[in-house]
Amino acid sequence: MAQECVFCRIIAGELPADFVYRGRGVVGFRDIHPVADTHVLVVPEIHIQDLRDLGEEHAGLWLTLAQVANQVARELGHADGYRFYVSVGAAGGQTVPHLHVHVLGGAMRRIPV
Ligand code: 5GP
Ligand code: ZN
Repeated sequence: MAQECVFCRIIAGELPADFVYRGRGVVGFRDIHPVADTHVLVVPEIHIQDLRDLGEEHAGLWLTLAQVANQVARELGHADGYRFYVSVGAAGGQTVPHLHVHVLGGAMRRIPV
């Protein structure tokens, strides 16, 4: 756990969040500032800073993130499809330096920047 990381603190139960999934080494919780009808963050429990830090050892974890995103989207009513996106680094718009997948379903209120 990274002490100063907001997502590590949510995962550790030190900060509240609206969880929709827990298991398989990942969690899903609702984004505090949703930009779509459904806006969930799917996050590995281990602290990985961003997508560029993924190595061969994370192959299973990356598959799990994608499968959990699919499951969460389906369970929240978006079996017909949803957006799956990842910000990579500050220059890529990443504001929380703990790898996470955005699951966006339904109407978009604004395009994430
Ligand atoms: P990024 O900008 O890094 O791609 O996405 C980070 C997301 O985390 C943003 O959409 C932001 O609203 C969300 N976020 C930041 N802090 C918190 C928090 O404390 N709780 C929750 N649930 N979401 C957060
Ligand atoms: Zn973290």
